[in-house]
Amino acid sequence: MDSVAFNDPAAARALVNTIAGLARRLPEVRLMEVCGTHTMEIGRLGIRQLLPDSVRLISGPGCPVCVTPAAYIDAAAELAVSQGVCIATFGDLFRVPGNRRSFAQVKAAGAGIEVVASPRAALDLARKSSGEVVFTAVGFETTIPATAAAVKAAASEGITNLSFFVAHRLVPPALDVLLADSSLRISGFLLPGHVSAIVGAGAYGTLIRRGVPGVITGFEALDILAGICGLLGLLAGNEVAIKNEYTRVVPEDGNPAARRLMEEVYEPCDAIWRGIGMLPQSGLRLRPEFAAFDASVRYGLKEQGDEMPEGCGCGRVLKGLIPPEECLLFGAACTPENPVGPCMVSSEGSCAAAFKYGGAR
Ligand code: SF4
Repeated sequence: MDSVAFNDPAAARALVNTIAGLARRLPEVRLMEVCGTHTMEIGRLGIRQLLPDSVRLISGPGCPVCVTPAAYIDAAAELAVSQGVCIATFGDLFRVPGNRRSFAQVKAAGAGIEVVASPRAALDLARKSSGEVVFTAVGFETTIPATAAAVKAAASEGITNLSFFVAHRLVPPALDVLLADSSLRISGFLLPGHVSAIVGAGAYGTLIRRGVPGVITGFEALDILAGICGLLGLLAGNEVAIKNEYTRVVPEDGNPAARRLMEEVYEPCDAIWRGIGMLPQSGLRLRPEFAAFDASVRYGLKEQGDEMPEGCGCGRVLKGLIPPEECLLFGAACTPENPVGPCMVSSEGSCAAAFKYGGAR
């Protein structure tokens, strides 16, 4: 969808009609969106209400804050409390509960927690500070190049009071794990526009190998409808392919320069996804040449275990096994004001989207 008329009602109606026609040729299909921004926009725009009953949209683990282990938050919060280190973190992570407490709670108790808008801002904070600063490097491929650039800048400037607690996660290896789980019955993927702008369409070879199509799409109403339409078209034609419906932003090969920067600074490692478990080669760690900037080395930080609060269904929500409303805590013990799990507090969380914009249909 290359048009700039993103919200043209006639074009939207035409896409909705095409979707209905394609759905009549198919059995029930389950399409997973693997991007928290898609999840929010699908809820906000009421996209589900426009679809036939046989087209189910299910949300996946595409909220980076939601999949960050609680033990990671606990370890960083403990560092702020016990050693007086300043933790620089994104606003989205600020209120996410750890097992013991959130950054917001330790800040209220007097610990040094600073909300920053970018890794660059953390770098500025360290330049101006005489104390130690640790940046929580969380996020998918969209944010990884920016943290890699900040690590390199810190190294070249000889900044010694800044380190990075790295919990980056990679989207394609997670898709492989989801596809291996037959209980999810995923018919196709709406692939994340921003991540794809970095990794390119070629990164989704796992979908082709496992016989599942995918469509890269953007975030406007027409983008999302065109993505669903494209996926149904591939399914109706028994075509297993990756289609790019977001060509105005996503080049076919993504952003090779950004990937080179990532690879220069980080190397792949096994990583825990909150509520899902250890996924092989789905995370990144700093390469040994940047060990001086690795907070886990400097302070002996560890993300240990993957405990979840009692009754919390975040793991099953993040895998798309249940919609948020089927968690027993949804809207009762767990609300945006008093979140039990990360999916309710993040601006990209499935539970936050369901709470704000209504149910699964
Ligand atoms: S309602 Fe709360 S506890 Fe349940 S899955 Fe959502 S965020 Fe987790």
